[in-house]
Amino acid sequence: MTITGKLLINGEWIDGQAGSYRAVDPATGQELSPALGKASTEQVKQAVAAAEAASSTFRRMSVQKRAGFLRACAEEIMALGEPLVERAMAETGLPRARIEGERGRTCGQLNLFADTILKGDFLDVRIDTALPDRQPLPRPDLRYMNQAIGPVVVFGASNFPLAFSVAGGDTASALAAGCPVLVKGHSSHPGTSELVAQAIAKAARVTGMPAGAFSLLMGSGREVGTALVSAPEVKAVGFTGSFAGGMTLVRLAAERPEPIPVFTEMGSLNPVVLLPEALDRDAEKLAEGFIGSLNMGVGQFCTNPGLVLGIGSPALDRFVASAARHLAQQPAGVMLNEGIRQAYSQGVASISSQPGVNKTAVGEEPEGKSGFCGQPTLLTVSATDFIANHALAEEMFGPASLLVSCRNSGELLAALKSLGGQLTGTIHAAAGEMAGYDELIDVLSQRVGRLLVNGFPTGVEVCHAMNHGGPFPATSDVRFTSVGTAAIQRFLRPICLQNYPGDLFPEPLQDSNPLNIWRLVNGELSKAAL
Ligand code: NAP
Repeated sequence: MTITGKLLINGEWIDGQAGSYRAVDPATGQELSPALGKASTEQVKQAVAAAEAASSTFRRMSVQKRAGFLRACAEEIMALGEPLVERAMAETGLPRARIEGERGRTCGQLNLFADTILKGDFLDVRIDTALPDRQPLPRPDLRYMNQAIGPVVVFGASNFPLAFSVAGGDTASALAAGCPVLVKGHSSHPGTSELVAQAIAKAARVTGMPAGAFSLLMGSGREVGTALVSAPEVKAVGFTGSFAGGMTLVRLAAERPEPIPVFTEMGSLNPVVLLPEALDRDAEKLAEGFIGSLNMGVGQFCTNPGLVLGIGSPALDRFVASAARHLAQQPAGVMLNEGIRQAYSQGVASISSQPGVNKTAVGEEPEGKSGFCGQPTLLTVSATDFIANHALAEEMFGPASLLVSCRNSGELLAALKSLGGQLTGTIHAAAGEMAGYDELIDVLSQRVGRLLVNGFPTGVEVCHAMNHGGPFPATSDVRFTSVGTAAIQRFLRPICLQNYPGDLFPEPLQDSNPLNIWRLVNGELSKAAL
């Protein structure tokens, strides 16, 4: 398949009516062909109308058919073959192994959601049968299930051109729920976005989906993104990106005549706590693991370990010296785009200039290298300075981390208490050591969505038990994950049918339980027919 620069609206590929632009190769700074179109406000309206028109059919479609669509999406993405890998590499500067790995993750995610909806648990069916003779009042027949919330807008993330973009976790979970999806593609990888949308469009055609079930719109966030989120037909939004962008969308959605939920993932420091015995035993090994995690993907992961905390000791000094040695050998890596490189350099410069902050180590110089390169950086500061200065808790999106040295466990606790919400928190502890840190563990767990022990936070498994979320400002809704099968819950809403005619029940609520799913019947989980 070739890149046409068109938009996908109501199942048709159409030229954008609001001008054009070109993708940029971040490794060279050169523009890539072809020219790509931007959607006009009128085209956004057409796409939203098509999504609304598809909504009823798509919501009520059998889970078997929707699962077939998700599997076909995975097959068609794989069938794109080498051109997809090459274009994604050219648009992101990410290496082949990462892109191929991410493609596998994307397809695995689509297939996992297909399996999930076939099991039916996501419907959370609850049935309380009628009690006509109950005193003092009879109970009517009540049947509850989840259903699709309606058309969903997905903002593709810059840092996962496949797994969190056009066919990424937000799209897969919304389609699985039965919601038409309107993707606002990220302009950092538009050709990749179009190729993946071509695969989804083909899968939709082959499996007989309604034309408006999936659309791809490219263009500026302030125009296309805002028009999508403001459209009355849209019922929810998924977003991964900056705090400023995410909060703009949250406010916009809240101020609509009909406010809608916006699930934003906006960044995290991912604090890593090094307890004394673990440090004493393994300072060098921990330092090596930390630098590996910090530099993965040029640090452009929301789970990057951007903050490390330990109690001052000879072992912490060994950790810092070893981390500095490893970091100094790291090359400056190509970042995703010029804006992200600039934001990274400014962020590091801003934090480095704060009182008490030392630039302890830097990686190789970017000078002389082509493209938008970011230099790995390790900064250090005392806990006293860290706690006193909120500016030090700003995310540096890229391969930089701030090490906070505490005088004692009380100061370590105070430093953790000063933190806002995070996606992850990590504790390194020797066997039995955690037992002495009950309060610290509780404080950390109240601030994070995922608590890890003796590992590093990069690498987010796509599975049933994952929680990739966390308290604000890491996300705008602490109750939900954006990775793993529980992500489908964001795009569902419950409905209760009371005293409804038995012959009109949707399949999940029918007496015979034709889908053979687990249901809570009169308070007991059961697969039995009524
Ligand atoms: P971004 O600037 O927030 O953009 C993400 C998406 O939202 C883009 O499609 C963008 O459209 C749109 N958008 C941004 N501001 C908007 C607004 N005011 N109204 C409507 N739409 C808006 O994020 P990014 O481009 O991926 O990277 C920028 C920074 O975000 C990074 O330097 C990093 O700090 C952070 N980031 C965080 C994560 C994370 O995992 N938490 C991931 C990636 C980036 P346009 O491109 O047209 O503006």
